[in-house]
Amino acid sequence: MTQDIAKRPEPKPGILQIEAYVPGKSRAKGAKVHKLSSNESPLGASPAAREAYSAAASSLERYPDGGATALRAAIAAKYGLAEDRIVCGAGSDEVLQLLAHAYLGPGDEAVYSQYGFLVYPIAIAANGAKAVVAPEKSFQTDVDALLACVTARTKIVFLANPNNPTGTYIPFSEVKRLHQGLPPHVLLVLDAAYAEFVRNNDYESGIALVSDSENVVMTRTFSKIHGLAALRLGWAYGPAHVIDVMNRIRGPFNVSAPALAAGVAAIRDTAFMDKALAHNDNWLNWLTTEISALGIAVTPSVGNFLLLHFNEKKTAPAADAHLQEHGIVVRRMESYGLPSALRLSIGDEEANRAVVAALKSFMAGA
Ligand SMILES: *Cc1c(COP(=O)(O)O)cnc(C)c1O
Repeated sequence: MTQDIAKRPEPKPGILQIEAYVPGKSRAKGAKVHKLSSNESPLGASPAAREAYSAAASSLERYPDGGATALRAAIAAKYGLAEDRIVCGAGSDEVLQLLAHAYLGPGDEAVYSQYGFLVYPIAIAANGAKAVVAPEKSFQTDVDALLACVTARTKIVFLANPNNPTGTYIPFSEVKRLHQGLPPHVLLVLDAAYAEFVRNNDYESGIALVSDSENVVMTRTFSKIHGLAALRLGWAYGPAHVIDVMNRIRGPFNVSAPALAAGVAAIRDTAFMDKALAHNDNWLNWLTTEISALGIAVTPSVGNFLLLHFNEKKTAPAADAHLQEHGIVVRRMESYGLPSALRLSIGDEEANRAVVAALKSFMAGA
């Protein structure tokens, strides 16, 4: 019997089917560039976090605390959680990858929503599992569609709530209905990267559901409202058995010491978080109103970004080119199957006013 022997090292099945994640562009013409392509914080990081980060420079020869003890304690104190049910990671990306790595393999399936975050298909394929995509209605997660995708082979359901890039969310009652419809062997991953921005009374990040279940994990990030995207810091809150699994497979020092130090300071700086939230509320509303008034359809968002819809006459690529001419970088949405949409992050006042002025001249045909 002859066996096919590869002529060079071959990766595991699934990996070469992955379309590598394309981060938001950071360049455009003009001296002043407004980067509104990656949902970064227009206020930067808390001064206390920056100070803690700088102070960490005096002991770069030391390994970080692999147990992230101080950060877990700070997170636990803020949200009233048990410290030993928290695990920290290099961004919530790493946390999501750890979950996929631990629970998905060849023959398994993982479900997510049509316009769900693109990290999910990458994490699923990287582990040789099959991605099953549930259709959305009006750019909104459809719980019944998700449940209809679940089979005996399903191991994970990924739900970004609020979702990126749509900016929409489903009420907690719907999240609970989704959970109730899942068999106990399915892990429900609630990606709450934008939870801090949501004001709506019917929204919850999922803490209560995690506390009461054996198959729900919530992931959070320091990249968005805390403005620490450069440091790569995120965390998960889950049942003890899931946290145990994640701790077994993560790198022993997966979060750097400067990130841990900055994270502790950031999560304690409530005043700064309040400021970031007020800024977002104010400008999210203003941009939604102003851009809608130009005749551009805007999906109502509860995040720190907006999804804008163009048409055949005034196309998204043409709008993108026009914005770039004016020093504004936004995110193209072809990779999400939304070629006529652009995603715009909420910027500082100058950026937001520049966006509206540029979209106005674009729609006027100038
Ligand atoms: C930005 C974002 C994250 C956070 O990623 P990090 O790796 O923590 O920077 C997670 N999920 C969604 C849906 C996001 O948009």
